[in-house]
Amino acid sequence: MGSLPEQFVFRSRLPDIAIPDHLPLHDYVFERLADRRDRACLIDGATGETLSFGDVDALSRRVAAGLSSLGVCHGSTVMLLLPNSVEFAVAFFASSRLGAVTTTANPLHTPPEIAKQVAASGATVVLTEPAFVAKVSGLAGVTVVATGDGAEGCASFADLAAADGSALPEAPIDVANDAVALPYSSGTTGLPKGVMLSHRGLVTSVAQLVDGENPNLHFLEDDVVLCVLPMFHIYSLHSILLCGMRAGAAIVVMKRFDTVKMLQLVERHGVTIAPLVPPIVVEMVKNDALDCHDLSSVRMVISGAAPMGKELQDIVHAKLPNAVLGQGYGMTEAGPVLSMCMAFAKEPSPVKSGACGTVVRNAELKIVDPDTGLSLPRNQPGEICIRGRQIMKGYLNNPEATEKTIDKYGWLHTGDIGFVDDDDEIFIVDRLKELIKYKGFQVAPAELEAMLIAHASIADAAVVPMKDDSCGERPVAFVVPSEGSEITEDEIKQYVAKQVVFYKRLHKIFFVNAIPKAPSGKILRKDLRAKLAAGIAA
Ligand code: ATP
Ligand code: MG
Repeated sequence: MGSLPEQFVFRSRLPDIAIPDHLPLHDYVFERLADRRDRACLIDGATGETLSFGDVDALSRRVAAGLSSLGVCHGSTVMLLLPNSVEFAVAFFASSRLGAVTTTANPLHTPPEIAKQVAASGATVVLTEPAFVAKVSGLAGVTVVATGDGAEGCASFADLAAADGSALPEAPIDVANDAVALPYSSGTTGLPKGVMLSHRGLVTSVAQLVDGENPNLHFLEDDVVLCVLPMFHIYSLHSILLCGMRAGAAIVVMKRFDTVKMLQLVERHGVTIAPLVPPIVVEMVKNDALDCHDLSSVRMVISGAAPMGKELQDIVHAKLPNAVLGQGYGMTEAGPVLSMCMAFAKEPSPVKSGACGTVVRNAELKIVDPDTGLSLPRNQPGEICIRGRQIMKGYLNNPEATEKTIDKYGWLHTGDIGFVDDDDEIFIVDRLKELIKYKGFQVAPAELEAMLIAHASIADAAVVPMKDDSCGERPVAFVVPSEGSEITEDEIKQYVAKQVVFYKRLHKIFFVNAIPKAPSGKILRKDLRAKLAAGIAA
């Protein structure tokens, strides 16, 4: 007589809420338009030009009509190849209104990378800046639209925006099945794959954060949210643009990251919410300019997309004592947010440094032993899995990869190793694939990186495995010394050795000028591993 092993399923401490399951994403985001028509919605950081919610609604209808005249309809795909801009946001909602899918790409990608995504996603229209038109102009079957007054040989955004949006027909959107966004996973661990997020999936994910009597992420109408993270990445698209607009907050759009300009914008617009990624946080707290700016308006600093250790969190606390600091944990495929810091709730609860939140409401989370597949109780690390309406429908045209990621019971396997503690807080140890294996022992690069970054003479650092005949792998570090610092390899090794068990000690240090990172804030470890393999670092 066998009995089923016990299942340990973790839920939010917040009660489930009613989440609309019939609204297309644009209708959900603009649901309270009548009450906030004249309130500021999008503020262009460079010019200060402000569009109200009413303006954005009307403009997105006109652009929808313009796109429709280019053949975009229910089921079409539009690519946004844009840096952060008002046009990005407007075009996203315009496509949604037509029942079309938006696929987003980093405009700094190379022409072959872009061509691959255009072909794989089936995009028929690419909206880009005049400066990037040349990257896409030769693609067969693709209409290129350029922002501003356009560029030679292609349609202009201004023309699209001049169309008549008043007679737009209702698109036959199936909210449960139609994708509205098709971001590509960033390709830090594998080849980029198109992630299908449905209207209902994204509505659910936004609602899990900002809806309900006691929202987990309490954004207010009077909030001013900084949008410095790239909208082509799901973190910014979802947690800044969609969550901010649903809540009725104003969004300050910054085209590209620059520490001093960012601090100026915060001061000028009285930014209250700063969603950031660890590299930007590091850059900010290690920059002397921080002390010459008044950042007292900031009430919330959100970090996500990559690990932020306790050490860095403590530094931020000291530098920005007025702000609540916490983390969210997301993954494109998860819709994207799995967990959010409970100190950001309307009725907040205390959190620990280094934790990346508590599972979102209306969802289930479990920790699975990667070797046995069994779910694990509290405080035991294993693979984080999530289930709920918010997760992706699947990878575009890739059922095998989808099946490997979402099991037959609907659990999405993240590939991240973490545990849930006694207070329901989630701690990420590292990515399954990135754990360094020293003999039988596992070393998490994130832990060592957090330690290195906390050192005053170190500006940035990354840890990767180096092949070793006797041990299998050993951790080695790439280190960017702070300006003027003369720290040596031995000093760094000893600094770490004093704090860790023997197998986590750093075997070698390579001094470099910068750590390669993805725009989403992740360390591009494959580039560093390649450097090691090529013997360049040695
Ligand atoms: P690919 O899967 O192609 O390699 P990617 O995983 O880098 O791309 P994203 O969806 O942007 O693409 O990243 C999700 C991953 O980011 C998570 O699986 C997790 O490893 C990491 N992550 C996100 N938030 C946090 C956080 N707060 N702490 C630690 N890691 C995080
Ligand atoms: Mg991933």
